[in-house]
Amino acid sequence: MTQNAAPQGIRDAAALSHDIVETYDAVVVGTGAGGAPAAKELAEGGMRVAVLEEGGCHFEHRDLASQAIQRMYRDGGITATIGAPVIPVPLGRCFGGTTTVNSGTCFRTPEAVLARWRNEFGLQDMHPAAIAPLFDRVEAEIGVAPAAFRVMSRPNVLVHEFIGGEGLSGAPLPRNAPGCEGCGMCCYGCTSGAKKSMAVSYLPKALCAGAVVYVHARADRILLDRYGASGVRAAAVDDTGRPTGHTLTLHAPRVLVACGTLLTPVLLKRSGIARGNRHLGRHLAIHPASKVAAEFDEEIKPWEGIPQAYGYDGLHDDGIMFEGITMPPDLGGAANPLSGHRLAHYIRNYRHMASYGFLISDTAEGRMVRLPLLGYRFIYSLTSTDVRRFKRAFAWLARLFLRHGAKRAWAMLVRRDNEFTSLEDVDRFERSPLRAADIECMAFHPLGTCRMAATPEQGVCGPDHEVFGAPGVYVCDGSAVPTALGVNPQETIMMLGTRLAQRLLGKTLGPEAAQ
Ligand SMILES: Cc1cc2nc3c(=O)[nH]c(=O)nc-3n(C[C@H](O)[C@H](O)[C@H](O)COP(=O)(O)OP(=O)(O)OC[C@H]3O[C@@H](n4cnc5c(N)ncnc54)[C@H](O)[C@@H]3O)c2cc1C
Ligand code: SF4
Repeated sequence: MTQNAAPQGIRDAAALSHDIVETYDAVVVGTGAGGAPAAKELAEGGMRVAVLEEGGCHFEHRDLASQAIQRMYRDGGITATIGAPVIPVPLGRCFGGTTTVNSGTCFRTPEAVLARWRNEFGLQDMHPAAIAPLFDRVEAEIGVAPAAFRVMSRPNVLVHEFIGGEGLSGAPLPRNAPGCEGCGMCCYGCTSGAKKSMAVSYLPKALCAGAVVYVHARADRILLDRYGASGVRAAAVDDTGRPTGHTLTLHAPRVLVACGTLLTPVLLKRSGIARGNRHLGRHLAIHPASKVAAEFDEEIKPWEGIPQAYGYDGLHDDGIMFEGITMPPDLGGAANPLSGHRLAHYIRNYRHMASYGFLISDTAEGRMVRLPLLGYRFIYSLTSTDVRRFKRAFAWLARLFLRHGAKRAWAMLVRRDNEFTSLEDVDRFERSPLRAADIECMAFHPLGTCRMAATPEQGVCGPDHEVFGAPGVYVCDGSAVPTALGVNPQETIMMLGTRLAQRLLGKTLGPEAAQ
C-alpha cells in the first residue's frame, strides 16, 4: 500500500485567530498543475516562497465518489459554461488542485501544437527539443509510465481487443500512477496515494524545501506598487468558501498566479491587472468530451480497474482523441441522458455496461462575461465543426461496440433516438441532423484565457510568463496555454510551471539554454 498521509507543515488559514502579515521572495496562488511545480522549484532554488490554496486537504478519505465531489470540487462539481449546450466543467478546489481529482493521464504537448504556438503566437522557444528537458524533469517527479493491462477497467481492455480485431491499434495511456492498484477512484482523490498528484509529489517537496503553504486561503487581490507586484491579500475561508474574518497579507516582489483557467482571469480583473488587454478572459478552449455506453451479456463491472487507461488516436487528425471513461455506480447510473424505463434498465444492469469516451480538440472559443448576481461566468457554444466531430465520434464508437457483441449502445444525446440496436440505427443517426443542444457533454480541460504570446496584441502574458504591463505578475497555469492541445493538458501545465520557476531563478535546462 502506498502512503497517503498529509505532509507535515501545511498551515490551515481557517484555524487562524489573528490576521497575518508576512514577507516572501515569491507568492504562488494555487496548488494545482501550474502552481505546485513552480513553488517546489523556486523553494529548492533558494527563494522564500509562500503558496495560497483556497481549498482544504483531503488525505486518506473513505468517501463515496458522490461525497468526494462535494468536498473536493469547486461548487460541489457544478461549474459550467453557458451556451449551446450548457457544459459542466468540473474543477478541483483542494490541496493539489484539479490534479488531486483527475484521471492521471499524461501527454507532452504535441509537436503540431508547438509549431502553431511558434508560428501564430511568436513563442519561438517552444520547440520539442528545447522543452524536452523540462518534460523529462516533470515526468521523473510524477513517475509517468504506461498503464498496466492488469489493472485496467474492463471497457478499456475490450476496446483494445475490439480495435485489435479490426487491424487497428491503440495504446495504454501514459499515467502518473506508479504502483496503481486499479481501485477506480482517481477522480475522487486516489486514496492509496499511487497517483502522483501535486499533493503527494511536488507539494511535499516544496514544504521540505522551506515553502510555506496555506490552505483555506483565498487570494482576493494582487497588490501592486509603482514598480509592479508587491504581494497578495487573501481571506481565510472555511471548507464551504465562507470567510472566517481573518486576512493574510503576504508581501513579495513576485506573484505567480495559478488559480486555473476559469479563475486566473477573474483574479487579474479584480486586481485591476491587464485591464485594457482584449485577450483577458477570452479564447477559452475546454476539450468538450462525451462517451458511448453499451450493454453486453458479459459481466463488465465497469467500476473495477483504472477508468481511463487505454487510448486510440486514429481520428486525431480530425481533432478526436478516444480515451477510457468509466464511473463508480453511485455516479455512473445517473451520468447519462436516459429516462423512464430505459434509465431503470441501465441502472439495474450497470454491471453489464461498458462505456468509452472521447475528447474534441475544439474550434470554439469561449469568453468571460460579468453577469448580474452571478458574477464572472464563461459563455461557450460548440461550432458546426465541433458538432460534426461529435457525430463522427459517437457513430464510430457505437459501431465498434455493436460489431463486437453489444446488445445496444447509447450515445450521450438529449433526444429519444440515442439508442442503437443495429448498425442501421447508427447509419440513420449519421444521416439525421445534429444540433449542439442535442449533445450531452462535459469538459475537463479549460485552457487559454490568459494566453501566452510574444506581444500584448496577441495575448495576456509574454513568453517569460509576465503579464504585459504588470511587472512581477506571472501566469503559469492552464490559462497561459495558448490553444487547445487535443490531448490531456496537465503535463503541459506542469512544464510551464517548471519553466517559469527556472526562468525566475535564472536557470535553463538543457538545450533551452541554447535558444
Ligand atoms: C475529473 C477530471 C479529470 C481530469 N483528468 C485529466 C487527466 O487525466 N490528464 C490531464 O492531463 N488532465 C486532466 N484533467 C485536467 C487537469 O487536471 C487540469 O488541466 C490541471 O490540473 C489544471 O491545472 P491548473 O494549475 O491550471 O489548475 P488547477 O489544477 O485547477 O489548480 C488551481 C488551484 O487554484 C486554487 N485557487 C483558485 N483560485 C484561488 C484563489 N483566489 N486563491 C487561492 N487558491 C485559488 C483552486 O482551488 C485550485 O486548487 C482532469 C480534470 C478533471 C476535472
Ligand atoms: S485506479 Fe485507484 S490506485 Fe490507481 S491511480 Fe486511480 S485511484 Fe489511485
